[in-house]
Amino acid sequence: MKLFIPGPVDVRPEVLDALRHEQISHRSKDISILQARIESNLQKIWYTKNAVLLSSSSGTGAMEMALRSLTKKKAAVFSCGAFGDRFYEIATYNALDVDFYRFDDGKPIDLNVFEEVLNKGIYDTITVTHNETSTGVMNDLDSLSKIWGKHPEVVVIVDAVSSFAGVKIPVDDLKIDVCVASSQKALGLPPGLAVLSASDKAVKRMNEIGYRGYYLDLKRVYEKHIQSHQYPTTPNTALMHALDVQLDYIVNVEGIENRFKRHKELAEYTRDWVNKHFECFAEEGYRSDTVTSVINSKGLDLDDVKATLKAKGYIFSQGYGKYKQRAFRIPHMADRTLDDLKAYLKEIESL
Ligand code: PMP
Repeated sequence: MKLFIPGPVDVRPEVLDALRHEQISHRSKDISILQARIESNLQKIWYTKNAVLLSSSSGTGAMEMALRSLTKKKAAVFSCGAFGDRFYEIATYNALDVDFYRFDDGKPIDLNVFEEVLNKGIYDTITVTHNETSTGVMNDLDSLSKIWGKHPEVVVIVDAVSSFAGVKIPVDDLKIDVCVASSQKALGLPPGLAVLSASDKAVKRMNEIGYRGYYLDLKRVYEKHIQSHQYPTTPNTALMHALDVQLDYIVNVEGIENRFKRHKELAEYTRDWVNKHFECFAEEGYRSDTVTSVINSKGLDLDDVKATLKAKGYIFSQGYGKYKQRAFRIPHMADRTLDDLKAYLKEIESL
């Protein structure tokens, strides 16, 4: 079966093999060396000197870790879809003081509204979803960053769960304080690990927060990492070995820039195909390089489409939530090849 859903993704056999690595102690020199090597490669992909940490959770765990450990007085959540909304839920479940700014599905975060909100001067933490997987909208981090760059008091948390390792996100140039990603998307690993970067500003802020939770306390995780390149609790060492192998491939075999280029080529091919046969859900100029959301303009029965494609060896992705029949999604991330993508799109074309 080929997984054409926007995560989890198909995983290279060498990466799966690495899961069988012999068990190692989580309090050994070996694990510290492994963590240091992983960190160094993740820093390259994010073009950052900031610490890069792992969380043995899915991406949502790292989102919660960041928001809860860094909001001092009041947070602003900027959302243009289901995953942006999740940050608001996380904030409310953690009893944080939060305001919610929601943009229509298919549209990006509006820069004028964003600027006006930050100019209120009442927020110390904000969240932005880079790549909204539910609608296929990719927000313009360059322009957003020019605005948040004028507000040094604000800690900026970016959800790059479905774009990291597929799209260039230069964390230091963009002044992102915490960037969060998951293993099972463009990174090309099985689910179960999250990665996050932490700037000096984020470190200063976490020290000013009284109640940060326990397991997802960014300060505890960060401090243990700085002391020993280890974690306060037992990390998912199997996935760390798999990550190590995949990072070596991305950095030294495929090449980071080549990986971004391949993602762009696949996205462009998909968008051209969609424009010929259907319509894109996301506004032009803000279409994601890792997943394309397609309006079901032909009125296909998408449950039937799913069953037909399954019989041909493909797992199809319907629209997210309320868009289950009105839209479908074509992922083009991780180690997917153009030939594979073309074959899949041909199958959809023939329905
Ligand atoms: N944010 C985005 C943009 C996502 O696509 C997802 C997963 N689909 C999440 C957050 C949540 O990640 P996880 O499932 O790894 O917790």
